[in-house]
Amino acid sequence: MKIICIGRNYIEHAKELNNPVPEKPVFFMKPDTALLQKNNPFFYPNFSNDVHYETELVLKINKNGKHIEEQFAHKYYDEIGIGIDFTARDIQSEQKKKGLPWEIAKAFDGAAPVGQFVNKNQFTDLNNVNFSLRINGEVRQEGNTRDMIFSFNQIIAYVSQFISLKTGDLIFTGTPEGVGPTKINDHFEAYIEGEKLLDFNVK
Ligand code: MG
Repeated sequence: MKIICIGRNYIEHAKELNNPVPEKPVFFMKPDTALLQKNNPFFYPNFSNDVHYETELVLKINKNGKHIEEQFAHKYYDEIGIGIDFTARDIQSEQKKKGLPWEIAKAFDGAAPVGQFVNKNQFTDLNNVNFSLRINGEVRQEGNTRDMIFSFNQIIAYVSQFISLKTGDLIFTGTPEGVGPTKINDHFEAYIEGEKLLDFNVK
């Protein structure tokens, strides 16, 4: 399986990192070795001093497809979850300055914790889903899918023009504003509509 991540999909987050608001989805990938499941701990990597959390809703692809039309994209996922796009911001900033790829800052082991998935049909409107992150009991990020620049279906249609999607692939759909640094011993809890679906510690 592969993990596809959308960058700059919430206007306020693009602004907080001084990035332009994109006209097309921006995407990058993480390998399967980045996936962290079952609320296992995240081990702070020794090559960075500024690892940031980005809380994102995650789509789980349920059938193979390519060149998927936006109107049919909803048939390619049944479940959504919540995950953290961990980013070594110090390293990413260097890469961005030099125009180099981001993988070294985004794709490392454990950089994609993902919680339990829930059926998308439990939400009346996928364009109005609240989600949030608490660290050590304090709310750090709150988002709503209405603020996405590109919808879930637009993302699937766009990405599948370039890359075939396969059953089990995950798509991180971008973070709202409020990203920030984490540190060892932080306790992460992430929620969709008040239901806690992800809970892990940083070690
Ligand atoms: Mg992200």
